[in-house]
Amino acid sequence: MTQDDPVIAIKDLHKAYGSLEVLKGVDITARRGDVVSLIGSSGSGKSTLLRCCNLLEDSQQGEIRFKGEPVHWKGSGHDRRPADAKQVLRIRTNLSMVFQQFNLWAHMTILQNVMEAPVTVLGRDRAQVEEAARGYLDKVGIGDKCDAYPAQLSGGQQQRAAIARGLCMEPEALLFDEPTSALDPELEQEVVRVIKSLAEEGRTMLIVTHDMKMAADVSDHVVFLHKGRIEEEGAPDTLFGSPQTDRLRGFLSATA
Ligand code: ADP
Ligand code: MG
Repeated sequence: MTQDDPVIAIKDLHKAYGSLEVLKGVDITARRGDVVSLIGSSGSGKSTLLRCCNLLEDSQQGEIRFKGEPVHWKGSGHDRRPADAKQVLRIRTNLSMVFQQFNLWAHMTILQNVMEAPVTVLGRDRAQVEEAARGYLDKVGIGDKCDAYPAQLSGGQQQRAAIARGLCMEPEALLFDEPTSALDPELEQEVVRVIKSLAEEGRTMLIVTHDMKMAADVSDHVVFLHKGRIEEEGAPDTLFGSPQTDRLRGFLSATA
């Protein structure tokens, strides 16, 4: 591993569920500070790609590296499993995933939700984690909700709590899977603002989104996935300003 290794380097990734080929040779690189957005129709393999990065899914061919370290399942046949527990922990800590459904613990306060994994999974000092957690909740604009329970928050506030929870792991990169698609349009903007501010502070992020405006605003690079292949990719201005393929033009006009 060297300083120059990308945070995430995906090469020729192939993934099938049984006979269903979902990823058919995908290459994506995110260097430190890069924001890469992944767009494409439902079923094109976007979530699968993120899940492979996080060892939630196995792949059959190609590779994913996290700062030079190979990320893949081990063993064969019935013994195939997501690497060893230490690697799983290291990868999931460093590539922190924010899901469409925020998945907060209903019986814990917002502060407890944000503190839970760093304290119990990573064994970090509780007082230090609490200070950091309060800081991240402030940063996403819900510092006043520390003692509330998830059900007492709006969807936008819950998603911002989920982002604070991801940040509290002190990850190398954040992986977002449609972070705004469960939200009403007016709540969506609260979350977009937070993601924008994270992009501005130079966080490395891989963002699956249906929000083309956000992708255009925050990304360094946009990848259009179609049926498991990269159909077109480029800088947001170029990709959205002058799409080259009929498929991307069709996709963009359907989502506009
Ligand atoms: P996207 O996020 O772009 O909508 P997904 O990665 O979720 O696409 O899904 C890609 C394809 O893989 C779809 O056809 C979906 O039905 C299928 N798929 C996703 N997860 C599974 C699974 N666990 N088992 C079988 N098929 C799956
Ligand atoms: Mg998806």
